[in-house]
Amino acid sequence: MSQLSLLKEPKLKKLVLFVTTECNLLCHYCYLSGSDEVEYIDWHVAKQCLDLMFRQSDSFNIQFASGEPQLKIDFIEKVVGYTKGLSIRYQLQTNATLIYGKVAGNLKRLGVDEGASHDGLPEVNDSLRPFADGHGATAATISGMEKPRVAGIRVGLTCALSAENVAGLCGRFELAIYLGNVEGIAFYPLRLIGRARKDSVRQAYPTLAARSVSADLRQADELALIDGKKVRFREVERMRYLLIYGIRRRHRCYFCAGQLLMVKPHRDAYPCTSLTGFLQFYLSNVLQPGFTNEVGVNLQWCRQLITPPHCCPTCCRH
Ligand code: SF4
Repeated sequence: MSQLSLLKEPKLKKLVLFVTTECNLLCHYCYLSGSDEVEYIDWHVAKQCLDLMFRQSDSFNIQFASGEPQLKIDFIEKVVGYTKGLSIRYQLQTNATLIYGKVAGNLKRLGVDEGASHDGLPEVNDSLRPFADGHGATAATISGMEKPRVAGIRVGLTCALSAENVAGLCGRFELAIYLGNVEGIAFYPLRLIGRARKDSVRQAYPTLAARSVSADLRQADELALIDGKKVRFREVERMRYLLIYGIRRRHRCYFCAGQLLMVKPHRDAYPCTSLTGFLQFYLSNVLQPGFTNEVGVNLQWCRQLITPPHCCPTCCRH
């Protein structure tokens, strides 16, 4: 039996649906070039993916991302209705600027958690993440993270790490603690695709990024001592998990485990949100005949294109 055939029946655990490329912001590094060409996901595309997930498990995660998914809340309601009764965790990956009190109440009713994007101190965030008229989104984003607190919704904070914000990372934990409902913080290294290429946003220099993130973590520990509240830092949690179980399990993330399916509005599927747009990782059009049967092998194939960093011969020898 070939190694690839071992994953013919993928056990998908996470579905990321890019709901629309439309967005009310014009972030300078947007990898989708949000709003440049507006597309919406078709229900048949989503249904095909949901049915594939159902066949494998009645417990998985669905993330609504893109553009600004809040602009297509009727689609999100339809997905939640279609998956009712299953054990599913829903998450809205949003810029949070459209989360008013009533909207937060609706998300709570639907059982949808919020992942909000925010890049740091207002002067930096405002310059990187403006509205179409040029004014910064910081105030609206913070308000859109506060409203869920009142509604009792958990929020995860995500931050695109670039040369523009790497020096001012500290402050994010203070914001998280101030808000009170931020569960954790995740950093994504800037990808030089989409608008990031046109607008010349620069990637963070790795040494400086490491130093800044370390300072952030020290600050989190200090604040936890004062406040008693610990905000989780996603990458550190992953590392901790990896050190305890990962060497044996050999999975560092959903992609490594071949458990993630990500679909764009025009039906193209990829094995990970971070690999969107990279041709070598393109899976297929989800409505193409054979997609369902071949997705496991294709996910396995993509996984082998990246050498897992944790497969160090020294550590894995035992
Ligand atoms: S909020 Fe997201 S989708 Fe919208 S422009 Fe910014 S990065 Fe792009």
